[in-house]
Amino acid sequence: MKPFLGEEEALAVAEAVRSGWVAQGPRVAAFEEAFAARVGAEHGVAVSSCTTALHLCLHLLGVGPGDEVVAPSLSFIATANAIRYCGATPVFADVDPVTGNLTGSTVAEVVTPRTKAVLVVHQGGVPADVHAIRIAAGGVPVVEDAACAAGSTVYGRPVGAGALLAAWSFHPRKLLTTGEGGMVTTDDADWAARLRRLREHGMSMSAADRHAAGGAVVESYVEIAFNYRMTDIQAAMGLVQLRKLDGIVEQRRELAARYHEMLAPMGLRAVTDPAHGTTNYQSFWVALPEGAPPLADVLSRLAGSGVSARRGIMAAHLEPAYAGHPHGPLPATEDLARRSLILPLHHELTSADQRRVVGALAQAIELVAS
Ligand SMILES: *Cc1c(COP(=O)(O)O)cnc(C)c1O
Repeated sequence: MKPFLGEEEALAVAEAVRSGWVAQGPRVAAFEEAFAARVGAEHGVAVSSCTTALHLCLHLLGVGPGDEVVAPSLSFIATANAIRYCGATPVFADVDPVTGNLTGSTVAEVVTPRTKAVLVVHQGGVPADVHAIRIAAGGVPVVEDAACAAGSTVYGRPVGAGALLAAWSFHPRKLLTTGEGGMVTTDDADWAARLRRLREHGMSMSAADRHAAGGAVVESYVEIAFNYRMTDIQAAMGLVQLRKLDGIVEQRRELAARYHEMLAPMGLRAVTDPAHGTTNYQSFWVALPEGAPPLADVLSRLAGSGVSARRGIMAAHLEPAYAGHPHGPLPATEDLARRSLILPLHHELTSADQRRVVGALAQAIELVAS
């Protein structure tokens, strides 16, 4: 991944600095409005990262000690950690081996009377089947970890449209970046108001509003909360980035189509659109075939040929931080974590680069006689 940044972002950031208002202010408000509109939600609440966005969503729903939250283990570790921040227990559900996402049936298998929320991930940009998962959750709130999914669609609408609560990331590994940053989107005005308070120390009135009011306005602190604010410097960059989203998605889908063409003759399975939506190809993963050398060897052979590939989506339950954490069988999760790798995909990649990547991969997994 390479962030798609240019002179426009640099100028917008400089302008925010020159304005003298560098903390959360008018640019954050404008970015929230523009981003929420783009993903089909009524409200956006900008925060410092997707990790803090996930924490706020679960805190808002009252998730706490003794509660269970269903989530995939196959995700960046922040998904599971956000549940732990609330003192609750992540209950790992398995994923579909083709999409890498939770399904209605894997969720239904692990829902119990203690399930307080389901945290579904649109992994690597591939939309999860939110309709089926909402039905399986049976009235338990479904929060969407949409960190990777800006510009993906599900059932003909943008991921985020119709979501109870969706959490987004603007880390440089994602399609849009503000350096670090995140957002919660929702259609619920009361929730949006509470989220704004939760991100800003539980203050009755935001610092920006107090400033705009003039005179002596004294705020009160109505609940114990957090400092998870985004800055206007970041939002200035986000506003420029957002205008590029459609173009970025279009180009990534073209590059992915070219990878698919090149990989097809090798019989390798790669990530693709599910039946219920389209992916933004945030991560282009390939599953190694049976009998291929171990993933670590393939990655180091690729590095030796100058190709910077990465292991595929991680599985939290296989990491030391979750050693001993109880879970049921997770065969598809473990298979994908051990056998998938992510190929380079960014806006400067040429078709010659892609041929070189695929050639190096073929050699690394010994599909061609060396
Ligand atoms: C990147 C990512 C996160 C964390 O996002 P940050 O903005 O870096 O906190 C959470 N969940 C998933 C699925 C991610 O890919």
